[in-house]
Amino acid sequence: MIGFDLVSKRYEGDHQALTDVSFQVDAGEMAFVTGHSGAGKSTLLKLLAMIERPTNGVVTLDGQKLNTVRPSDIPRVRRKLGMVFQDHRLLLDRSVFANVELPLIIAGVTPTERARRVRAALEKVGLLSYEKQLPGTLSTGEQQRVGIARAIVAKPAVLIADEPTGNLDPQLAMEIMGLFAEFQAVGTAVLVASHDLMLIKRMKKRVVVLDHGKLVADVPATEVV
Ligand code: ADP
Ligand code: ADP
Repeated sequence: MIGFDLVSKRYEGDHQALTDVSFQVDAGEMAFVTGHSGAGKSTLLKLLAMIERPTNGVVTLDGQKLNTVRPSDIPRVRRKLGMVFQDHRLLLDRSVFANVELPLIIAGVTPTERARRVRAALEKVGLLSYEKQLPGTLSTGEQQRVGIARAIVAKPAVLIADEPTGNLDPQLAMEIMGLFAEFQAVGTAVLVASHDLMLIKRMKKRVVVLDHGKLVADVPATEVV
């Protein structure tokens, strides 16, 4: 579902963010990408989201090589991807329902079908009764769950998250990770960037380790202790 084949990224000004990174994440697999600040975690996710382009190598999303995607085609390809951010990036002047509905409007889904899917997504994250509220009236953990509902409402094949639990206490963080594991269980490929080693160890999922832009370890879930 996710493929990196000898991927390098150099930003302007000679910042080498990634060097020859290769790994794959299959459908129904969940992996963490970890490493020190500046190791290249965000860059890796940005390449998948086509926010940045690789300098060398090939990034693949659901069998499609992203290098050759034309700019006009980016929105269509991005629909295969759900994205969760640390700061959730919700629209604060729109209801919870409207926030989660947004990707479906962009995808051209009919209003009746949108309502059905938004409620299904909100139910999955345990927030069905909050649909009319504004995000600002929710707790940080609840806001993050709205962000997750928005990321998965269009049923993407791949879910990526950049430090999704950075602002949460350990118990809430575990709840959020549990949600990701549930999407993994129904066949989504899940890739989560995190530097929270305690949390990563508790989850017992595959761990890809970056160090100064190089992939230095790829630990299978069965070997996480
Ligand atoms: P992480 O998410 O692991 O903290 P990043 O992917 O954000 O790492 O950054 C990797 C390296 O690339 C860092 O040295 C960072 O300063 C650099 N970098 C990230 N974004 C840019 C950018 N837009 N321009 C130049 N350098 C960047
Ligand atoms: P995050 O990990 O949340 O993206 P960062 O601190 O890595 O936060 O980066 C914040 C923003 O600044 C990002 O858009 C990133 O691309 C950019 N950035 C990071 N490092 C550099 C850098 N050395 N030069 C220019 N832009 C950078």
